[in-house]
Amino acid sequence: MNAVSEVVTVHEPPRVYSASHEKSRGRLQQHSIALSLPRDVRLPASARRFTHHQSTSPAPPEQFLRGGLYRRKPAKYIAFALAVLMVALCAAPVAEASYTPMYSILRIGLYTGTNALPSANLQNVRDYGSGFEFGYFDSNRDFVPIGAYLEENAISILMDRNMTWYSGAGGGSGEYREGVEGPVVVGCFHAQIDIAYSTFEEARAVAENYEDSFVKFHSGRFIVLIGNYATRDETNTAIAGLGLSNLVVESGTSNTVTVVKTGTNTVLFEYDNGASNYLGVMPTSSDGVKCETWFKNYRYRGGFQYARREGALLTVVNYVEIEDYVGGILPYEMNNAWPLEALKAQACCARTYALSSLNRHSSVGADLCVEEHCQVYRGRGQANARTDQAVDETAGMYITYNGSLCETYYSSSNGGASESCVNVWGSVRPYLIGVIDPYEADMASRIPGYNWTITYTQAEITQRLRGRGFDCATIVSMAVSRYTPTGNVLTVTMTDANGREWSFSRRGELITALGVPTQHFNIGEAAWEPGGMFANDPAQQVDTGIQYYAIGGGGQAAAVQGETIYAITGSGSVEIADGEEGVSAGGSSNGMVNGVFYIRGRGRGHNVGMSQYGAYSMAEYHGKTFIEIIQFYYTGVDVG
Ligand SMILES: [Zn+2]
Repeated sequence: MNAVSEVVTVHEPPRVYSASHEKSRGRLQQHSIALSLPRDVRLPASARRFTHHQSTSPAPPEQFLRGGLYRRKPAKYIAFALAVLMVALCAAPVAEASYTPMYSILRIGLYTGTNALPSANLQNVRDYGSGFEFGYFDSNRDFVPIGAYLEENAISILMDRNMTWYSGAGGGSGEYREGVEGPVVVGCFHAQIDIAYSTFEEARAVAENYEDSFVKFHSGRFIVLIGNYATRDETNTAIAGLGLSNLVVESGTSNTVTVVKTGTNTVLFEYDNGASNYLGVMPTSSDGVKCETWFKNYRYRGGFQYARREGALLTVVNYVEIEDYVGGILPYEMNNAWPLEALKAQACCARTYALSSLNRHSSVGADLCVEEHCQVYRGRGQANARTDQAVDETAGMYITYNGSLCETYYSSSNGGASESCVNVWGSVRPYLIGVIDPYEADMASRIPGYNWTITYTQAEITQRLRGRGFDCATIVSMAVSRYTPTGNVLTVTMTDANGREWSFSRRGELITALGVPTQHFNIGEAAWEPGGMFANDPAQQVDTGIQYYAIGGGGQAAAVQGETIYAITGSGSVEIADGEEGVSAGGSSNGMVNGVFYIRGRGRGHNVGMSQYGAYSMAEYHGKTFIEIIQFYYTGVDVG
C-alpha cells in the first residue's frame, strides 16, 4: 500500500521541461510583439454610424488620483530611479550589473481557464481607497484611463447576460449568476440613445437626465443606455413609455462586461472594445494612499482586468507592481513570522522566478498563476511589517548568473541534499548544482512530513507499473542502481519475474514508478533515517538509550558500546553504521523488508535550488545573511 498520504507540494516546471525553457528564453524578445495592443482606440466599421463629436480619443481626466499606483510615467520612472538609488545607498554589497526588468508590472491570473467567473465583486479596503476608475491596460501594461470614474466603493463586474444576485453565495459576500431567478435581476437589454459621444463626461451629462441610465464605452466612443431589461419586448415597451424619438434596443456582444453596484441591479457602466481589448479597473484614492481592494476574500494591490475568454466567462487578471507581487507571496510561500534573512532570500527568489516566468500563462493573458504551479500569491492578507521589510530591503534585487536572470526554483525541503537540475529534470543550469545541505537537519523535527516511508507489495508495485503503461511481469526486486554525487537517487532499477529490468531515472520517472516526494531516499534499508536504528522490523525503532546487540564488523554478535556500529547494508556489505544515508541494518538485496518493498526518504520537494526550511535554519541558527543563503543554494550567482 502506498503510504504517502500528503500531497506533494512543490514548484514544478512544465512537464516538458527543457522544451519549455527554450521557449521562455525566446519569449522576452517576442514579448512586445505578442502583446501589442493599439495605442489609439479606433472606431470600427460597426460603430461608424455614430457621427457626432468625431474628436480624438478622450484625454484622461486629471482630477482622479490613482492611489499612488499607475500615475503618469515620468513620476513612475523617477520613483523607480529613486528606489534604485536608495538601494544603492543603503544595501551593500550590491553587484554592479543588476537586472533591469522589461516591465514594472506583472500580470497575475486570479481566475482563469476553468475557474473563470460569471461575475466578480470588488470592494475598496476601508482607508485604502475609495472608488474605481475604468480603462484598459496597454501593451506596456500601463493603465490607460478612458475617463470613466465612479465613487462607489463596492462594485461588481458581470458578463453581459441576464444576471441574478444571490446574497448568500460566494463565501458570504454574495455573487451574480446567470439567469432570471430572484428579486434582483440585471437585464442585458437596454434602451439606447442613438448618439455617440467622445468623452465620458459628455455622455454622463446626458445620462443624468434619465432615470436608471448609464454610460457605455463602445468601440472607442461613449453612448448612453437607459434601464436594464431581461427581454427585447420589455425594452420596446419601456421605449414606448419614454416617448423619445431616438431610442433603439441595445444588447451587448460576447465581449461586453457590465459594472453594477454590488447587491443591486443598478448598472453603473458597460464596456465593449472588441474581442482583444479588455476592461481594466483601477481603484482610486483621494489621499494618495496605496490602494488595496477586496476580491473573493483576499485583498490585493494594483488593478484588475476582466476579459471574456473561455465560454465568455470573466478571466480576472491582477496587474500588480513587481514589489507588491513579491509582498503578496512571502507570507504564503514562507510565513510572516520566519527569520528576516530567510524572508529576504525568499523575496529575491520569488522576484527572480517571476521575471524569469513572464508569459508563462500567456494563453489567458497572464504571466503567472496564483497556485503552487507558479508561486502562491494571495495579496495583502497575511503581509506584516516583517514581510514588508524583507521586500523593501531587497527591492529591485535579482539573482543572476553571468548577468542573466536565473530560474530560481525552490522547494520546501530537500531531505539533506539539493540536486543538480540535470539530475532532476534533465536540463543543465550551471547555477542549479546539488549541494549537501547540513542546515535542514537542525530543524528536521519541525518540518511536516519530513521523514516519509512508502511501501509496496509485489502485487501493488506491479499493478502500479502496469497502470502506467509498463508491460511487466510481477516485480520481484527493486534497488537504487545509481546515485548522484550528493547521495540522491538518480536511477531505480526493478526486475520482474521474467528477469527483465525496468529502470527509472530523474524526478518524473521516479514519481511515476514510486510516487516519491523527493529523490532523497533509499530502498530496502530500514535504518536509513538518521538518528534512528531499526532492528529487522522497520516499524520497530531501537531505543538507542537501551543496550542492544548487533553483528559487529568481525562477524560476532556484541553489545553496542560506542559510536561505531557495524551493519549489513542493502547491498549485503558490512559498513560502519554512522547514521549517514546509504547504510542500513537489516535490509535485503531485493529491496524488501518483511515482505514488502520498503522506501524510506526525507524531504518534500524537487530538490532543486533553495530549501525553504534550510533557509530558515541558516538565518535562525547560523547567522547567515540572505545573500549567503542564496549563494549557498545557487552556485556562482550574483545578487543585486
Ligand atoms: Zn502557474
